[in-house]
Amino acid sequence: MEKEFLKRFEKNKDELTGLYRRDAISSYMDKLIRDETPFSFVIVDIDNFKIINDSYGHAVGDEALRLVAQSLKKAVQDSGVVGRFGGDEFVFVFPNIVEYDDIWHVLLNLLQSAYDIKIPDTDVSITYTAGCSRYPLDTTNIDVIFNLADKALYRGKVKGRNCFIIYLAEKHGNINLQTIREKVYDPIILHSKIFNMLTNDDDTSNNIKNVLDFIGAYLLIDHICMQENGRLYLDYFQPISKKRDYEPYAEEAITELFNNCSVFYENATLSSREKLKIIDELKKQNIYACCLVEIKCYGKSFGFLRCDMTSVNTGRVWQNDDLVLIETVANQIGLALYIDGLRKLID
Ligand code: GH3
Ligand code: MG
Repeated sequence: MEKEFLKRFEKNKDELTGLYRRDAISSYMDKLIRDETPFSFVIVDIDNFKIINDSYGHAVGDEALRLVAQSLKKAVQDSGVVGRFGGDEFVFVFPNIVEYDDIWHVLLNLLQSAYDIKIPDTDVSITYTAGCSRYPLDTTNIDVIFNLADKALYRGKVKGRNCFIIYLAEKHGNINLQTIREKVYDPIILHSKIFNMLTNDDDTSNNIKNVLDFIGAYLLIDHICMQENGRLYLDYFQPISKKRDYEPYAEEAITELFNNCSVFYENATLSSREKLKIIDELKKQNIYACCLVEIKCYGKSFGFLRCDMTSVNTGRVWQNDDLVLIETVANQIGLALYIDGLRKLID
């Protein structure tokens, strides 16, 4: 059926890849909506594609896009329709595949298909991030279908790429697309930005505050602060959690924790059965996911960095990238505080 419908778009396909363009994909989706045929819409974006262009030139980038297009077409076969709207983004419509588990397997297959792609004369490996929305489950409006898949895609980019996200209203509904877009940074740029903020001016405390504000907003942490000697300071709150009351953790809960490690994190703390004093503290403060890192330098302790998520709605799960970033920031803050102490001695 789709072959017949798409025939009229055959003459005007994307020059580089031979895939359908936006007009074909949109018309096809309109038709499915008119016929009330359920479908999944998927956007696949190549991870760090700019690096291929920058390292090997635009011609190799073009060749990579052609190979990706061929590979994606092969992976999809007759189960759906593939298009390219431009850039390194590919779009898919899968009619009658809308059950979560079914589209989950389709997406896994798409992501895994990237691993076989070889770009001649390079040692580049390709990975994708994908976002998916479903008609009519998520919406019946075509523009919203695009937006929700885009939102899911950017969620995947923020989470560290090479993954797929199927939009779920209860999980992703309160994420603002605009704020997510602003949060995708190249790791090198991200770390140098943080370093610059920490060494920005003479006021170390203010520098740290700026870094915490930035990290809090970047990782969508709803509360990030430091605690030293039973006192919370330099708090940053996401707007939604501003009204919450946060208490310092009891010092003995922290001592128990940092006897074994200098980083502690936990997801889904509210249902955790672990017998640690800190878990009781987390439950008392309704903290759903937490990360605590000791801040120290040359054996001198400056308390710890504390990151909390209180909303069960976001179903927050710490990603490796998040934890690496938080630990690195804690280490840099330790160094900044140590140097600050030295400077004060010299002055
Ligand atoms: P991310 O993981 O965040 O997606 O990073 P990225 O480097 O892939 O960045 P993004 O998707 O934002 O940018 C895609 C780049 O693809 C931008 C542009 O330089 C390049 N590009 C877009 N169209 C073409 C094309 O037709 N040919 C080539 N060679 N490059 C293209
Ligand atoms: Mg990309």
